[in-house]
Amino acid sequence: MVKEIQLRITLQEEAVADILVKKSAQSLKIKQDDITGIKVLRKSIDARKALIIFNYKVAVYIKETLPQTSEYTFNYKDVSKAKPIHIIGFGPAGMYAALRCIELGFKPVVLERGKNVQDRRRDIKAINQDHIVNEDSNYCFGEGGAGTYSDGKLYTRSLKRGDVRRIFENLVYHGATEQILIDAHPHIGTNKLPKVVQNIRETILKYGGEIHFETRVVDFTVKSGKIKSITLHNGLEMSVNRVILATGHSARDIFYLLFKKKIALEAKSFAMGVRVEHPQHIIDSIQYHCSGPRNELLPAASYALVQQVNERGVYSFCMCPGGFIVPAATAHGEVVVNGMSPSKRNNLFANSGIVVEINADKDLYKYEQFGPLKGLEYQKDLEKLAFTAGGRSQTAPAQRLTDFVEGRLSNDLNPTSYQPGLKSAPLHSLLPKPIGSRLRKGFESFGQKMKGYYTAEANVVGVESRTSSPVCIPRNEQLEHPEVSGLFPCGEGGGYAGGIVSAAMDGERCAEAAIIGL
Ligand code: FAD
Repeated sequence: MVKEIQLRITLQEEAVADILVKKSAQSLKIKQDDITGIKVLRKSIDARKALIIFNYKVAVYIKETLPQTSEYTFNYKDVSKAKPIHIIGFGPAGMYAALRCIELGFKPVVLERGKNVQDRRRDIKAINQDHIVNEDSNYCFGEGGAGTYSDGKLYTRSLKRGDVRRIFENLVYHGATEQILIDAHPHIGTNKLPKVVQNIRETILKYGGEIHFETRVVDFTVKSGKIKSITLHNGLEMSVNRVILATGHSARDIFYLLFKKKIALEAKSFAMGVRVEHPQHIIDSIQYHCSGPRNELLPAASYALVQQVNERGVYSFCMCPGGFIVPAATAHGEVVVNGMSPSKRNNLFANSGIVVEINADKDLYKYEQFGPLKGLEYQKDLEKLAFTAGGRSQTAPAQRLTDFVEGRLSNDLNPTSYQPGLKSAPLHSLLPKPIGSRLRKGFESFGQKMKGYYTAEANVVGVESRTSSPVCIPRNEQLEHPEVSGLFPCGEGGGYAGGIVSAAMDGERCAEAAIIGL
């Protein structure tokens, strides 16, 4: 017999050997010896009160053998001679579109401007150490897209938008730990992601798909309302029938190309702000109610904060406990910061984007001349401003949190995880007022919600500008662009995803739509 039960385990109990067996036996009023195995189905930590509780959902096997391994299988077919579907971009959306094509019996032909994960590493090093931005290979572009050297948090709010579990099982199939199927806030970590991405590439190639790295799509032709061909950076033209456009929100050249060709685009609301970095022990002591180091059974603490300020949301975004701030620029002359963490989340710093909602209809009136690209131009201006204020390299402008809120330049800055380095700058006066003033009020309110958060020991680092796409590439119910039959805008760049999992789910959906009638 197998029974599913919920268990509440205190922090002290968590350290006890076989505690799940003991507690399950008590809960079910059976002998411990009758329990033949326990499978953890879900685990979360409730640290809201001083008594920290681990909440478990477990399957208790009573006089029955516990299955030893879980096999997640996907029905991949040999597609080497099948009809092609062209996929532009090999981020989570493009990767999962390609895998789904193979399951459905179609051949994915992937075109990716960046390099494979191994070669991409050198460009990541160059931006961190030498401040050199390769415009085709960086934290956003290359095999696995922005999802490879990312944090790998797999939390998504889009529960209704597809089968999250299926994406998780596929990640496990490709080498991610099974723990992601259990944790309430699953996380892979930047050190483990490249291998998972590489395994996905190997599956696609093994079943007959094609992947062309260092291949940038620069143009396409449309005849009688239908996409006919795409042009590559080297001038080569490829005939196409169905194209999944999964180029992400940093592929500005693609937005400009569509705009130039008078193909409908829409401005979209998004968010921008700064990244704040605290010593991890401060966040631990607030969240775990402790004065010294956190208990070794507890992971580096995280937080999620939100506050409405003058009719716009100010909120934490992509919080990375035990992580690093990274330079996520995709072009020369801009500074963009983002965050990531290794699987153990054992770095000394906690960083998070703190961003302000930018309403495309109400906040961009000075940029109206740019039409649907007004948000993109606003985003670019902020990134240029950060570049100038940081000293015209990848060094980022920064300020102590208290100085930022109280409006004075910092004499010196706190230590940081940001490898290209920080330069003291008056971000409080440099940021556009609608962002800067809301951030300052937001930080004050966060300090009241989390006592100790508002501290001179934290740095504010500029700018966090790539939270989501400022442009939407419209699509109809068949997921095709309403003006270009055969073109399927997909993932975060089109405005249909926000994060790894939702982009992957959208990739699957677009593949399913693209094969119809082929
Ligand atoms: P992308 O991942 O942006 O992929 C687009 C791909 O298209 C790129 O590889 C690019 O090179 C390619 N491309 C662009 N233009 C062209 C062209 N013209 N021709 C050919 N190829 C082209 N999300 C989370 O859910 N959890 C996290 O913890 C997390 N952490 C992050 C940390 C960092 C540092 C960054 C940068 C992002 C993070 N994200 C995180 C966001 C996440 O990575 C994105 O939401 C996700 O990757 C979007 O997937 P996508 O496939 O739509 O686009």
